[in-house]
Order: sequence, then structure tokens, then C-alpha cells
Amino acid sequence: MKYSKKEKSMMRKEGSCVRILLDKNDAGRIRFCENCDVVELEIGAISLRISAEDLHIVALLVKDADVRLAYYRLEKEYQSREKPLNDCNMH
Ligand SMILES: [Zn+2]
Repeated sequence: MKYSKKEKSMMRKEGSCVRILLDKNDAGRIRFCENCDVVELEIGAISLRISAEDLHIVALLVKDADVRLAYYRLEKEYQSREKPLNDCNMH
């Protein structure tokens, strides 16, 4: 069985995991393995492996949820301030 030059170089690369730290903060860290084309999210005791191309869509999901949570809390705060007048102690 013959392999092309490109395939041979790909086979060599599959040898071992080389993880590159993409980012980290108090929540955890995210590493990328070029050989596996996998992104590892480490949050607390949880380790999540996703394909590198999915990272963007996962990031959007988290970002969107974060924004919606902020709006949800603002909305709740606004509603709690708008209590009926008979709740007011001034009268
Ligand atoms: Zn790997």
C-alpha cells in the first residue's frame, strides 16, 4: 500500500498529543491538540473534548447564554422595582 507524501506526514503527526494552552482563567483552561484537532475544555473537575471546529459554535453558545442571563436578571430587577403602589409604605 502506497501513501502520498501528505499522508505520511499526517501519520507521523498522529504520534503524540501536543497540547497548546489557548486560554485560562479562574473558571478553567482551554487547550488545543493540533495532532488530534481537538480542543479540551477543563472546567473544575470536568474535562470536555470537542473538535477544534466546534469551538467557535460552543463559544457562541456560552456567550449568548451569558448575555441572556444578564438580560434575565435585569428584567427581574426591573420587575421587582415596579411593585404595585399598595406595597409602598409612604401611604
Ligand atoms: Zn492529541
